[in-house]
Amino acid sequence: MTFMSHEQVDILVIGAGPAGLMAAATAAAAGRRVRVCERMESPGRKLLTTGGGRCNLTTAASADAILVAFGRQGRFLQGALREFPPAAIREFFAAAGVPTMAQEDGCVFPVSQRARDVLDALLCAADRYGARIACRCDVRKIVRCNGVVTGVETADGFLDAPRVILAAGGKSYPALGSDGSGFALAVEAGHTLMAPVPALAPLMTAETWPARLAGVVLEAARVRIDRKGASREGRLGPVLFTHRGVSGPPVLNISGEVAALLAAGEKVRLLVAPRVDRDATIWRARFDAWRAPFGRRALHNLLAGELPRGLAQVLCEQADLATGATLAQARREQLETLARLCAELPLTIVRIEGWDHAMVTRGGVALREVAPHTLQSRLVSGLFFAGEVLDLNGPCGGYNLTWAFASGRLAGRSAGESMP
Ligand SMILES: Cc1cc2nc3c(=O)[nH]c(=O)nc-3n(C[C@H](O)[C@H](O)[C@H](O)COP(=O)(O)OP(=O)(O)OC[C@H]3O[C@@H](n4cnc5c(N)ncnc54)[C@H](O)[C@@H]3O)c2cc1C
Repeated sequence: MTFMSHEQVDILVIGAGPAGLMAAATAAAAGRRVRVCERMESPGRKLLTTGGGRCNLTTAASADAILVAFGRQGRFLQGALREFPPAAIREFFAAAGVPTMAQEDGCVFPVSQRARDVLDALLCAADRYGARIACRCDVRKIVRCNGVVTGVETADGFLDAPRVILAAGGKSYPALGSDGSGFALAVEAGHTLMAPVPALAPLMTAETWPARLAGVVLEAARVRIDRKGASREGRLGPVLFTHRGVSGPPVLNISGEVAALLAAGEKVRLLVAPRVDRDATIWRARFDAWRAPFGRRALHNLLAGELPRGLAQVLCEQADLATGATLAQARREQLETLARLCAELPLTIVRIEGWDHAMVTRGGVALREVAPHTLQSRLVSGLFFAGEVLDLNGPCGGYNLTWAFASGRLAGRSAGESMP
């Protein structure tokens, strides 16, 4: 579908992702004439891949916990979350024929386990009130006159509209549509961009031994950054070794912070506790308890009862123990090193995997230039924002889609209400 340049349009939405579609459906339901420009050949390409195709669409966490999860910028979410909290998001989809279920870990999925159903519900909601979507419609510029929005320029010409909602996403997974062009549009309109870095992506290590353990998972691990001022509690959950380093929820969740430090030229060391229930004192006591009954057994075999076998081997090597060394043969300082490594294993991070592997973008349009209770630009009248294009990113677990839906809802309503 293409739009006619003479069409009377109240609100133009840039981007048919979850934020843009929710904004379009909300504004259209309030009686506004809404058009959505989407540069890809179909809407919601990224949404279809979320949660491995199952779409972890929100979380069972409380509103306060959600604000905390978004960290330094969390308070900005308050207005949008009050407007459309997770319970309301679930009701919206249930009413659209997509009931949801919460897992024990708080992740909320459609009962059907199909991201397609979530996208279809959004498309139906937009369509019901006449919001129309033009695909292959690449917006090149937000057109203004005297600081007031008047429309957009696309590859095919100009489209007039007194309100524009920029919901063009970030830079992650560019093949799915959001290639950073939303940032360029905002900057051209006068907004400040907080440097985007990939987040929720695996980390690459200087050490090569993780490759030997590729596929091995530490089920109950803790990951923290070895740095003054960094959280000592770190992030908890399963850590996965990969061919190039480490991944798994706690690594992904800490990766944005790591990427920002690396981008600032800092050296980053991660400390991975393979078993969160054991510190060095407990490991030392373990070795002492083993001495009498198992002193003649190879240490790596003893450790393999407590940790994945491959890791037990690597830890013994790192402690400078000869292959097959028994507990009785180990020197005191070797056992001390081993106890420390078993408690927390240092890894030097050289890089975060790039935009093709990052689920979200850290950075984006500066929040100080956007009013949190309307999501309207403080610089350009009639311009609103929704979703990942703003400088906000949450952890794994449905937090980012919660923000996309809640901000889309708020931007759609306030853009509609701001018109005479
Ligand atoms: C593999 C993967 C899995 C994920 N899984 C989850 C999950 O399970 N739960 C969760 O909460 N989050 C998940 N996320 C994150 C979540 O998908 C994003 O945070 C969310 O999609 C952001 O929504 P958005 O509408 O702001 O942006 P997007 O979904 O990126 O949508 C923006 C749209 O704008 C279009 N666009 C961009 N520029 C232009 C332009 N100039 N003109 C016209 N159109 C334009 C794009 O083509 C795109 O369709 C996942 C991300 C990835 C990559």
